[in-house]
Amino acid sequence: MAKDFGYTISCDRQIDFDKLSRSMYLEVKKAEPSVDACISCGTCAATCTAGQFTDFSLRKFILLLRRGDSLSVIQSIDKCMLCGKCQLVCPMGVNTRGLIYSIQVISRRIECRNRRVVNKM
Ligand code: SF4
Ligand code: SF4
Repeated sequence: MAKDFGYTISCDRQIDFDKLSRSMYLEVKKAEPSVDACISCGTCAATCTAGQFTDFSLRKFILLLRRGDSLSVIQSIDKCMLCGKCQLVCPMGVNTRGLIYSIQVISRRIECRNRRVVNKM
């Protein structure tokens, strides 16, 4: 039986830049150029309807995409209900609803591409 020492080992927070790719961010930026204006203020996340029930945060997803960690985004982007509340409050005028929709479309495309590669193997 495992002993409770009152602490746990933290997950590795090291960023492996060899595993990351910014290609999805560039694709998203092409579809919705206003993403470049994001200053990571977090206003969208503070008002997010989905964020009240889940860990959904557009601010976090934009940061992850910029960093090149697209897998985490693909796994969670469907939690957004496209209600558009975030768009009303964004101080930089980012077309957040359009941005999330573009991310969802591009995620589907990537998933299909990956499935085709797996099926060919
Ligand atoms: S509210 Fe706009 S500028 Fe602020 S984090 Fe969200 S998308 Fe970026
Ligand atoms: S559109 Fe999506 S990200 Fe924006 S407030 Fe609604 S649920 Fe949240």
